[in-house]
Amino acid sequence: MELTFYSLSSGSSGNCYYLGNGSHGLLIDAGISATSVRKFLGKMDIPMHTITGVLVTHNHIDHIKGLEVLTRKNSLPAFTTRKIWKSILTPHISITKDCIREIHLKQKFRLAGYEIEAFPVCHDAPETVGYHICAGDKKFTIVTDLGHICDTAAPYIKAANMLVIESNYDEEMLTNGRYPQFLKARIKSDHGHLGNHQASSFLAEIINDDLRNICLAHLSRNNNTPEKALITLNKAFSARGIVLNAKQHIMVLNRDVPTEMIRMAESDRLS
Ligand SMILES: [Zn+2]
Ligand SMILES: [Zn+2]
Repeated sequence: MELTFYSLSSGSSGNCYYLGNGSHGLLIDAGISATSVRKFLGKMDIPMHTITGVLVTHNHIDHIKGLEVLTRKNSLPAFTTRKIWKSILTPHISITKDCIREIHLKQKFRLAGYEIEAFPVCHDAPETVGYHICAGDKKFTIVTDLGHICDTAAPYIKAANMLVIESNYDEEMLTNGRYPQFLKARIKSDHGHLGNHQASSFLAEIINDDLRNICLAHLSRNNNTPEKALITLNKAFSARGIVLNAKQHIMVLNRDVPTEMIRMAESDRLS
């Protein structure tokens, strides 16, 4: 089965990602308005009716801003754990009851023809998950908000053929930037966000021929640039003598606008 990934928006002002197989698809998070979701899907000729659900990672506004309207207007089910639902369903946000679907950590379920598993990551929300999604022998993992590579996430990242991983801040920019100390400490903490060096050194450890696509995600507007994220990763690879093969690609996901689609075809052979 084909894996098509399309980032509609990635970063602290809004996260929304599409994963599809040619006929059906799903969204991961809805941190942009429902209007923007429809518009950005339309750009790629993805009809709304082919979306079968939304997987939600946690309750921060940059991941759920459009969830209420998107689910209600499209009668779209949204999936996350009981603890995350509890943190989302506040007096300010009411999700239509019929759209609420509860899932359990590390228990596989099916949606859009994919086998999906949520796993816990360390982040400063009541609970935060990453998703591991299998399409036949192709595996996709997404971890957009995590303070460090925790043991609960590492195996799913290592198993990915297509990986979306946070590379939130450049350590120097954050340290020397204008954020107040408490915020800098929060971002750098084990329950904050993943910096360029943290993401890069882990990727340099785990890179293998079957990890075909690496998407650096959730970049900070104030404390990072796409160039710095890429340079840090390339340096980490060079330091270990790692040379990517012709089938391996790295890209940085855009913050406020969609990023070009990535396709892993059924015929793409893994070793
Ligand atoms: Zn976020
Ligand atoms: Zn967050």
